[in-house]
Amino acid sequence: MKIFAPKENDPSEPRAALDPAAVKKLTALGADVVIEAGLGERSDNPDSAYEAAGATVTTDRAGLLGSADIVTRVRKPSPDEIGKLKEGAIHISFLDPFNEKDLIGSFAKQKSTAISLEMIPRTTLAQKMDAISSQANLAGYVSVMTAANRMNSILPMMMTPAGTISPAKVFVIGVGVAGLQAIATAKRLGARVTAFDTREEALEQAESLGAKALRIDLGQTGATDQGYAKELTPEQLEKQRVEQGKVCAQNDIVITTAKLFGRPAPILIKEDVIKSMKHGSIIVDLAADTGGNVEGTELGKEKVTDNGVTIIGTGNFEGQVSKHASQVLGANFANMIEHFWDKEAKVFKINLEDEIQKGCVITHGGEIVHERFKN
Ligand code: NAD
Repeated sequence: MKIFAPKENDPSEPRAALDPAAVKKLTALGADVVIEAGLGERSDNPDSAYEAAGATVTTDRAGLLGSADIVTRVRKPSPDEIGKLKEGAIHISFLDPFNEKDLIGSFAKQKSTAISLEMIPRTTLAQKMDAISSQANLAGYVSVMTAANRMNSILPMMMTPAGTISPAKVFVIGVGVAGLQAIATAKRLGARVTAFDTREEALEQAESLGAKALRIDLGQTGATDQGYAKELTPEQLEKQRVEQGKVCAQNDIVITTAKLFGRPAPILIKEDVIKSMKHGSIIVDLAADTGGNVEGTELGKEKVTDNGVTIIGTGNFEGQVSKHASQVLGANFANMIEHFWDKEAKVFKINLEDEIQKGCVITHGGEIVHERFKN
């Protein structure tokens, strides 16, 4: 099978779907790996490193899109590029399937198999290919480093002959994969951390990392069978905002990571709370890509309010550490392909009865096969 990794179309995307280590793993399976020249130029992997790992480097993007059996890329393709895929080709990428009805239709029309990285089930078996987690973990780290860089003060406590500097206070809202890494990173830098999540299990994990849990009695909250938080009622959200607002006002850094699977993120911090925050405080909104948790967040922007609060909604935070992001993403791709690789025939086997494929294969054989998107 021929596997092709094209360069990303979006100029704001520095990550690559495969890194040289992933290429090595895939060629060892017997796959023929081709990368577009310059694939890793923004993630510190020159073409020569890919060649040394066993890949062929090409400039013929269109030709390879039309001849590859598997295409791996980070972001969703354009409809035009879907139209170039050969019949039966397997295309693996982030797809945003809840918002990309037309794109899904294009894959079905092209008779190609679209696999959505977002839809990989959150199960133990699928953990090695869980790209949402591998990227969210890095985003959590970057959120703290970004805030630390913007602050005019430091994070750790320092006792010096010139007096004592108090530790920074960090409040993490949403303790999933990104939130847990944000807590761990802030703790390592010596900050005092408070955390809130609607799931009690998440609060216990926060405490095990040394954070103080903020507990708000919201009544029934709960999670889906995949471990995602359920949407709160408007009354619950209002109660959360009031209680949380008091904590925001006392903290130097607020990191929000609260997302709802397949839906826009809930607004958790409104203007009144931002106004109550200290001059020089930083809010990093990791949910910016899905609408943001903060009123006024603009995707791709960083802004300072009249009262001196910086709101950072840059988006694609993991892209700022593109080398490691590509390393773990490449491992996710290689692990997935290896998992479904038929060693005898040397092909990626599509089996729609398989639990993982049932979760993430969206189109196959000219049809939309995924239960959630069929209708
Ligand atoms: P996510 O990015 O969808 O959301 C981030 C966090 O925001 C979640 O913890 C969620 O509970 C929280 N949240 C939602 N609404 C909120 C609100 N109003 N206020 C505060 N917090 C709110 O979540 P994720 O990081 O993708 O992880 C979701 C779950 O999946 C976690 O429990 C995680 O541990 C689990 N998980 C399991 C596996 C596995 O078993 N293989 C792998 C990865 C993640």
